[in-house]
Amino acid sequence: ATKLELTNVGKVFQTRTGSVEALRNIYLSVESGEFLAVVGPSGCGKSTIMRIIAGLDRPTSGHVLLNEKPLGKIAEGAAVVFQKDVLLAWRSIIDNVLFPLELKGITWFDRPSKQTNRAKALELLESVGLKGFEDKYPHELSGGMRQRVSICRALIQDPKLLLMDEPFGALDALTREQMMYDLLKLSDKYGFTTVFITHSIEEAVFLSDKVVVMSGRPGTILKEIPIELHRP
Ligand code: ADP
Ligand code: ADP
Repeated sequence: ATKLELTNVGKVFQTRTGSVEALRNIYLSVESGEFLAVVGPSGCGKSTIMRIIAGLDRPTSGHVLLNEKPLGKIAEGAAVVFQKDVLLAWRSIIDNVLFPLELKGITWFDRPSKQTNRAKALELLESVGLKGFEDKYPHELSGGMRQRVSICRALIQDPKLLLMDEPFGALDALTREQMMYDLLKLSDKYGFTTVFITHSIEEAVFLSDKVVVMSGRPGTILKEIPIELHRP
């Protein structure tokens, strides 16, 4: 389980024409297993916060603590899902799901764990309604289905911290609704800590335990709203 804490985080980007202050005075605290949604208009710094939490970018001031310890280069135990799926076109669906494990060198030459991993990938695909699609290729699936594969690919790493940046932003309303139910189910089942970035208040309220509302620029936190009675 993973607790996340941002203290007085600020971010200034240096650009050719000067500097852009993207974040100022960001305080965030996400308890272990909690689902936090971050909402706000385009350009208020949501993606920057997520990249900082993932360890993909550094704050220019303040700090990020993961389980009370300073964040390493890449956040240990974190998995990220972006708005646009980044599936590998030449790999089947199940091989896409298994890819992060291969990167970590877990499956190479290791038959027993290969079997277990395969079973787990199939189970995840089934839990998002993609049973029977494991041997297809990304171009054979719709946008919503590909995004579900991206979520499976994140979850197969057993993340302690799931970071999602507008994961449903490119989907139609019906698919999005289905995905929200799928995500709630998975979140209840696996209990990971989640930071979910969206500009949809509806998604935020439906999914999260706590909503942080941001405004820009520079991006600051306007309000923090606890959500009760959020689980159907
Ligand atoms: P959001 O995700 O809320 O749309 P972003 O975090 O993408 O906002 O961007 C916040 C601000 O920081 C914007 O003004 C954006 O132009 C700026 N910004 C983001 N990344 C960079 C960068 N690499 N270089 C310069 N400015 C950036
Ligand atoms: P969207 O196209 O909006 O992303 P979904 O991913 O929800 O929609 O797809 C809706 C349904 O249509 C799926 O659950 C699936 O049953 C069917 N479908 C879409 N594309 C395909 C495909 N290439 N092969 C088989 N079934 C498909």
